[in-house]
Amino acid sequence: MGAHRNVHKAEYRIGVDVGGTNIAVGIVDDHYRIVTKTSVPTRDAAAPEEMVEAIMSTCRQLMQQARVSGDEIVSIGIGVPGTANQETGAVEYANNLGFTDVPFMPMIRTAFGEPLRGVIHFDNDANAAAIGEYLAGNYREKSFIMVTIGTGIGGGIIYNGRIVRGVNYAAGEFGHMSINVEDGVTCNCGRRGCWENYASAAALIRQAREAMTNATDRSGALWKLSGGAPDKIDGRLFFEAVREEDPLALKVLEKFVGYLAEGITNLVNIFQPEVIVLSGGITRAGDLFLPALKEKVLANVYSRDSAVNTKIRIADAIPDAGDVGIIGAAVMDRGEA
Ligand SMILES: [Zn+2]
Repeated sequence: MGAHRNVHKAEYRIGVDVGGTNIAVGIVDDHYRIVTKTSVPTRDAAAPEEMVEAIMSTCRQLMQQARVSGDEIVSIGIGVPGTANQETGAVEYANNLGFTDVPFMPMIRTAFGEPLRGVIHFDNDANAAAIGEYLAGNYREKSFIMVTIGTGIGGGIIYNGRIVRGVNYAAGEFGHMSINVEDGVTCNCGRRGCWENYASAAALIRQAREAMTNATDRSGALWKLSGGAPDKIDGRLFFEAVREEDPLALKVLEKFVGYLAEGITNLVNIFQPEVIVLSGGITRAGDLFLPALKEKVLANVYSRDSAVNTKIRIADAIPDAGDVGIIGAAVMDRGEA
């Protein structure tokens, strides 16, 4: 053995969160904190080649800015909004990106070259987010489900510290369980009544706008906050109106919570996990709907008379909701321990 002493070398991970609107990239330290981050727009219908190039150059730029060298990077994780085949490295299907059978990882590895190509991982973005919350939050539960409520609804299932990916890596697409097969709206997956068309953040905003348009009384907080323009309503303004106890906003929220509860109840009935964690921007206003949600779920689950039932809580391990995707992607290599 040599006589040199052990010098602590900094370890960093890079997380890449590929979304329909932005590609967010961040360097993450050992303590699940973001050292530096940036984002670039995902151009409409960007070709896979362009996306790979954008990811690679953004990572390199960020490393340069943070003065982090290649040998300090222990892993690079990429979360994609689609089916991430761990065997072939292909993104088999990502409707928001318009990707079908894109040989994503081979392209990424070629773009990065040596030595980084060896430390790159990818997974479905909701799986990555679930791993991030689970590890950063130091959860003790053996069965853990995260529901990510955003433009759609994604999910991650963790049993005994491992992500459940399914036979074809497409497990956890909770957003595409139907809660109304008969008269439900047609989903972009081709099915009717998919949960995400009723209980995603995008659906909530759509419901609020519709309620405004159909209302005869236009004096409430939703109308004031939006300056009279329903299409100005976003999640932040909507929950502001709820805090002001605007009757129209409260009515919309009650119906929305009913939709949310339907899907959560289904998940409890199927999995009976120790905990279901809700994540996504709108859950930051969770204090306004979590009690009602829990009540509705408990009233309807099959196990309502059991002594023990699934805990339902809001994801809080990562303070900024916008960082969940980056941190989850960065630490996904630690998720299979
Ligand atoms: Zn669907």
